[in-house]
Amino acid sequence: MTKFECDLVADLLPRYIDKKTSEESNRFIEEHIRDCQDCKELYEAMVADVVVDVEQPPIKKRFRLNGIMKMALIVLGYLVVVLIALFLFSYILLNGVI
Ligand SMILES: [Zn+2]
Repeated sequence: MTKFECDLVADLLPRYIDKKTSEESNRFIEEHIRDCQDCKELYEAMVADVVVDVEQPPIKKRFRLNGIMKMALIVLGYLVVVLIALFLFSYILLNGVI
């Protein structure tokens, strides 16, 4: 394995991950990755990046859910404040009557 091969694999990896490389290139890349730790790590890092890209929509959904949760908490907070005010008001009213 030579520096030239590593450079070649690094150049080909993005296309390989997108499955745009020829069968011969695939064989060369797979054989090289099996023997070369550096390129294997590079390949795994690139695959991880691709996976992150695919998982973007669920992350956005989670953010939207967080927004709804925040709104619900704010509404709940207002309700608690109103209930406490009503409770205090009726308590004072009842005590005043007694
Ligand atoms: Zn290599």
